[in-house]
Amino acid sequence: LKLPNRTFHGHPRLLSSDVYSQYESIRQGKQEIPKYFNFASDVLDKWSEIEKAGKRPSNPAFWWINGEGEEVKWSFEELGFLSRKVANVLTKECGLQKGDKLILILPRIPEWWLVKVACMRAGIVVIPGTSQLSAKDILYRLQASKAACIITTGKLAPAVDSVASQCQLLKTKLMVSKGSREGWQNFTELYQNQSADHSCIKTRIQDPMMIFFTSGTTGSPKMTQHSQGSLGFRPLLSERYKFMSLKYCMSGGEPLNPEVMEQWKSHTGLDIHEVYGQTEMGVICSVSKGMKIKPGSMGKAAPLYDVQIIDKNANILPPGQQGEIAIRSKPIRPLGFFSEYLDNPKKTAESERGDFYVTGDRGTMDEEGYFQFIGRDDDIIISSGYRIGPFEVESALIEHPAVVETAVVSSPDPLRGEVVKAFVVLSPTFSSTDLKSLTRDLQDHVKKTTAPYKYPRKVEFVKELPKTVTGKIKRNELRDKEWGRI
Ligand code: ATP
Ligand code: MG
Repeated sequence: LKLPNRTFHGHPRLLSSDVYSQYESIRQGKQEIPKYFNFASDVLDKWSEIEKAGKRPSNPAFWWINGEGEEVKWSFEELGFLSRKVANVLTKECGLQKGDKLILILPRIPEWWLVKVACMRAGIVVIPGTSQLSAKDILYRLQASKAACIITTGKLAPAVDSVASQCQLLKTKLMVSKGSREGWQNFTELYQNQSADHSCIKTRIQDPMMIFFTSGTTGSPKMTQHSQGSLGFRPLLSERYKFMSLKYCMSGGEPLNPEVMEQWKSHTGLDIHEVYGQTEMGVICSVSKGMKIKPGSMGKAAPLYDVQIIDKNANILPPGQQGEIAIRSKPIRPLGFFSEYLDNPKKTAESERGDFYVTGDRGTMDEEGYFQFIGRDDDIIISSGYRIGPFEVESALIEHPAVVETAVVSSPDPLRGEVVKAFVVLSPTFSSTDLKSLTRDLQDHVKKTTAPYKYPRKVEFVKELPKTVTGKIKRNELRDKEWGRI
């Protein structure tokens, strides 16, 4: 990608908008795809120049923080300096050349990014792998990819050694940890003593940059190769390209987990405005434009309706107390309400209580009039006398990186009557994890995040959750199965 030869005016977004406008004209056929592209030299090093000229704010290029409060911040210049040193380790010390393959199995520590950028500089193809891989998985990946080098932690080094004799093409093993191990070189020591003098290799846009192994759900994992262009160039655009004209986001029909909201914001910069309603009367509550957003809350009552939390005798409950979400329907049935459940007078009658229409959902209202969803009435779990709403447990579970999606339902238990059970769809990166210890992990996580009694005593890992055509989770189907009703 040839960047336009003009002066930058200190606009922090300028470089990506240049890339964007070029991409747009390529898409429209006005311009050809560039022949050469390398993310390290065409993007990172360009930013470094802008930074040097004092034409960008002093935001770090890289900012990393871990759970222990350790922090690493690099400018573009520092990132360039360090990654050039690493490029020299790979080419000079390890003798790797353009097109050679390197397996990188590290947690997300700064070295992970350094190696990636260094590989771009040297044209080495990176094959990332999760730290959860077993020796057998590593063997399969080393053999299939014909990798010449592996970089991993001291913890995983023994697993690599147990299979290394079956991988003749593996020449170099680098360890990112303190200490030493026979047959391994210490990555940190090596790169700290290297020169930072390295000129980035020229790569064609189609040259390989990374290989990802598929999860192997339908057979042995397949290697999917990505090019300098597909990885260095699109991700750069995704944020601007996909969400260029997106201004307002709404969610409804299902509870919105705070974690989903946070992820959405980090990818798009936008909040999600939640809407809660029913086919019976449309919008009941919402977070409208300009309103304060409280993650986990569905917003305030729609102007048309008097929404309250009531108990089983139709008494209005004070803020903070759990009850049924209801709408005043007497003496005047509000405009917008359905007239009846056709051919079902019993159901119509069941939806009326005192002066209210009951939604069949449980929730709370806070002092500011914001409603929180707890769960559908039938989905509430009553365990050892405690009422547990599935939404809170699901929201806690979904914060865990292993969990893609989850549904929490009641399950029979001889002692407690019923207990909390979570059905969990695992992230592909955790597919080879030991499920017993992962179960304990998930349980501990819920205990820490919510009241400990709410943790799922049972966890079942499933490929998918039963859903309606519009994508709503059918918790009742899972529950009926648990109780042997179907
Ligand atoms: P059925 O009534 O046939 O069982 P349904 O209740 O899913 O289906 P809808 O009227 O489409 O049919 O959905 C309304 C229900 O969806 C609500 O009663 C509530 O349980 C759920 N719902 C809608 N919006 C939200 C929301 N923002 N948060 C939590 N739940 C929601
Ligand atoms: Mg309904």
